[in-house]
Amino acid sequence: MYKFTSVKNQADKYILSLDNHVSIMEALMAFCQEKGILCGEIGGLGAVNHATFRYLNPSTMKYVDKTFDEQMEITNLTGNISQKDGKPYLHVHITASRSDYSCIGGHLLDARINGACELFVTAFPGTFAGRRTDAETGINLYEF
Ligand code: FE
Repeated sequence: MYKFTSVKNQADKYILSLDNHVSIMEALMAFCQEKGILCGEIGGLGAVNHATFRYLNPSTMKYVDKTFDEQMEITNLTGNISQKDGKPYLHVHITASRSDYSCIGGHLLDARINGACELFVTAFPGTFAGRRTDAETGINLYEF
């Protein structure tokens, strides 16, 4: 029904303020590599003007990517950090609001900041959260 692992309450917490116009995923990956973070969680908010979201169609097991070139507020960015092949593996989802206040979202492939982006990263000690591609869903699931 589920699998789980426990984490000791010895997490390092970081607050990041990303430079304007940078790629969120590039900056996050660089930070995780600099700090050697291979297990953790991500939260944040900000504003972007170019973003690519991904949708997984479960009936075809195909990813559908779509790019939006418009100013949007990141109303929520949430994700986790694990490791695959010894490198940080980022799994990030996003909800963003448009100028008419409607929201769109999905799996975040990348987005370019236009304004600000403030992230919170919690790094758990250890490297126990790996990824394995699940044959049924095609998704890289946690492997503990
Ligand atoms: Fe996802």
